[in-house]
Amino acid sequence: MTYDRVREVDQAIADALVGERARQNDTLAMIASENHVSEAVMEAQSSELTNKYAEGYPGERYYGGCEFADEVEQLAIDRARELWGADHVNVQPHSGSQANMGVYLGVLEPGDKILSLDLTHGGHLSHGHPANFAGQVYEVEQYEVDAETGYVDYEGLAEQAEAYDPDIIVSGYSAYPREVDFERIQETADAVGAYHLADIAHITGLVAAGVHESPVGVADFVTGSTHKTIRAGRGGIIMCDEEYADDIDNAVFPGSQGGPLMHNVAGKAVGFGEALEPEFEEYAAQTVANAKALGERLKEHGLDLVSDGTDNHLVLVDLRPSHPDTTGKAVEEGLEAAGVVLNANTVPGETRSAFNPSGIRAGTPALTTRGFDEDDCREVADLIYQVVEAPGDDDVVAEVSERVDELADEYPLYE
Ligand SMILES: *Cc1c(COP(=O)(O)O)cnc(C)c1O
Repeated sequence: MTYDRVREVDQAIADALVGERARQNDTLAMIASENHVSEAVMEAQSSELTNKYAEGYPGERYYGGCEFADEVEQLAIDRARELWGADHVNVQPHSGSQANMGVYLGVLEPGDKILSLDLTHGGHLSHGHPANFAGQVYEVEQYEVDAETGYVDYEGLAEQAEAYDPDIIVSGYSAYPREVDFERIQETADAVGAYHLADIAHITGLVAAGVHESPVGVADFVTGSTHKTIRAGRGGIIMCDEEYADDIDNAVFPGSQGGPLMHNVAGKAVGFGEALEPEFEEYAAQTVANAKALGERLKEHGLDLVSDGTDNHLVLVDLRPSHPDTTGKAVEEGLEAAGVVLNANTVPGETRSAFNPSGIRAGTPALTTRGFDEDDCREVADLIYQVVEAPGDDDVVAEVSERVDELADEYPLYE
């Protein structure tokens, strides 16, 4: 895409779009929640469907002229049902946070009780943080991971649930490197008469490909984003049993959204179709293999990983044991200057702050899309380590940057 038509009317935006494409081509995207969609998904997202109002659901719209919108949304739904084996699917949430909002609105009353993982332990804002609507409308208590092991403390969670008597327990996380035992959490929810929402935003693709245990058919509700490990463009999705279908659909529209972003629903349909191809399973397996290789090499360099490793697409490094005077922010900034884009992250038992935390989070979904294998990821670990050792050193940054340029050239992305 050359953005010539944008340029004809808007030089500044055309420059920014071309700049962003070059940035993605030239840097290594290691923010664990990011990926690169295909040009087919982007083309669908930029279609005329952006013009179309399609309030309602396929076959029951409030507006005319929806025959193609219906076809697109139904295909997105059918493909999602096949990918995740879900009974009922709503593909309209504008984002993962909107998907969670849909579930809360669908089955909770204001003042009901949410039990969710603490944000600094890997949870998400939309799980009831005071700055999010969920924290303002509902009562929230949070559970933690075991500070020693970095794993969810399932037994502690069961005891806490017993004492707190929540209406909903939320599982699924933003910075958790280990497989989640959804069945165990469902048992806990059942024992206290709570719903269980499994938010698989980060691992939608891993679950679809069968490389992570699936909560579909286990948890009462499953929400996800469609732009992280599944490459279907920005958006959200909700899955549930047929018995909750109306509650969920009404909570999304008209409960919390107006017309669906039909161009994005088209992107989801195309991305889900791509994920149904056999190559997607290889992609997901390679993403995990790459994260394991990255993590092992970081450990060989003496860095400390939360939970001592990973089962999924991300690693979380706690810098405190090996580099007590180095902050996650300093490493993030040094790496960004060298063309490796990841984020500083809180770690369990954080002793600094959310703005200046003690860890870094690194994911492999986007690098794997480019074609990186385990050897490449071990080399990326070496590059990360060089910067961890000397985050403010211009010579180190220049050296790492040179190698990043070569790797980026070796694995081209967008034309
Ligand atoms: C990324 C994420 C979401 C969704 O975020 P959006 O930016 O709203 O799409 C929801 N839950 C978790 C656990 C996440 O990591």
